[in-house]
Amino acid sequence: MPRDIESRRRDLQSAFSIGTEEWESLSVTAPLRELADVMVESAVGCLPVPLGVADGFIVDGQEVSIPMAIEEPSVIAAARFAARLVGRDGGFTTWATEPLMAAQVFLEGVSAQGETRLASCAPRVRETLAGPLASLERRGGGFRGIRVARLPSSTVRVDILVDVRDAMGANRLNTAAELARPALEEAGGGRVLMAILSNAAEERRAGARFVLPVDRLAVRLPEGMSAAEAARRIVAGAELAQEDTSRAVTHNKGIMNGISSLALATLNDTRAIEAAAHAWAARGGTYRGLSRYTVEGGALRGEIELPLAFATAGGSVDFHPAARASLAILGNPDARRLARIAAALGLAQNLAALLALVTSGIQQGHMRYHAARQAWRAGARGEEVRLLARELAARTAGPADAEALLQKIRERPR
Ligand code: NAD
Repeated sequence: MPRDIESRRRDLQSAFSIGTEEWESLSVTAPLRELADVMVESAVGCLPVPLGVADGFIVDGQEVSIPMAIEEPSVIAAARFAARLVGRDGGFTTWATEPLMAAQVFLEGVSAQGETRLASCAPRVRETLAGPLASLERRGGGFRGIRVARLPSSTVRVDILVDVRDAMGANRLNTAAELARPALEEAGGGRVLMAILSNAAEERRAGARFVLPVDRLAVRLPEGMSAAEAARRIVAGAELAQEDTSRAVTHNKGIMNGISSLALATLNDTRAIEAAAHAWAARGGTYRGLSRYTVEGGALRGEIELPLAFATAGGSVDFHPAARASLAILGNPDARRLARIAAALGLAQNLAALLALVTSGIQQGHMRYHAARQAWRAGARGEEVRLLARELAARTAGPADAEALLQKIRERPR
């Protein structure tokens, strides 16, 4: 592979039959191509995922617009709908724990005495890591202690707990874990098998809740369904995700539609956030829904809590200009505030999906957005997309009909 991005691009273009439109879509601007080349290996361009903004969220009394990078239609519309529904009654109340992450060192051949010695070697580890964690200490974070566990294989796991403040902490913790190896081998008497952070982030959680007068649900309900019945059905629908794993996976996918699109818009580590969320959903041994709902005293209450290792500093987050733009839209929050916003967004997404599912179904809304794509495929551009999509949504037409309809639109006097 050639060393510079422009040569790689030339080679790629001549080796594969990539159309002009397809090629240009990956090309972006020369400075962004150069940046991509700095960020990852073998870069050939950038993928322009759509970015939308779900405005009108009230999170802890403050209005916030949430950037979302996602290819799926309906998701941003659903978030905006739920934001407005909940916003009229105070919006989302959120919370976040301290941003504590664990660097893990796994040791083999540690005796019971070695395990006891490891459990009391925190001062030594702290001293070893003073340099690498100094910048976090200056910001109020840093070393918070160690935890020792023996695994079924007899390998001993040492968790080095670090408050990473506004960073995700992966690089920082991986460095810390590797630097702590000699001290831990000396204390435990065994040999290190591996050293890396844990993405589980169980100590770094954020949550959100809302309380909504049941009557507020009297929007878009099917004829004959009361708001109280809609609320009952939301609770019952959410409970399915507590008793049936196959339902829970889809329930949580909907929550992650929001959280992952915010993670991508801010160039946070989507894989880490998703892995942690799903592990948390299965923490009791069975995979379950991440949110719970109740109806009490005429109000529907929804709540969610999960690990959310969102960063606002370090990694790609404060490095790439697109991520910095997203942070600016969010009002430049710190990492805990961003995690709280993510929790609110996940819960909003979940509420919108549940309300649609237990009332008119989600297809009605989806098809409206699908119609715009159908119109585009049929060749509509500009204003034609809206006009054709409206007509397509009103009838059940296939692609062939779409082209004929487009022709008719074009023939209409303007
Ligand atoms: P990083 O290496 O950029 O370190 C964070 C930097 O931010 C430090 O230099 C710190 O001094 C600085 N900083 C500035 N303001 C800060 C503040 N207010 N709070 C905290 N730090 C502040 O990034 P990182 O967070 O250590 O690692 C994240 C990156 O590591 C991501 O790109 C991630 O994808 C990648 N990564 C992940 C894994 C994994 O998840 N398993 C493994 C390896 C690498």
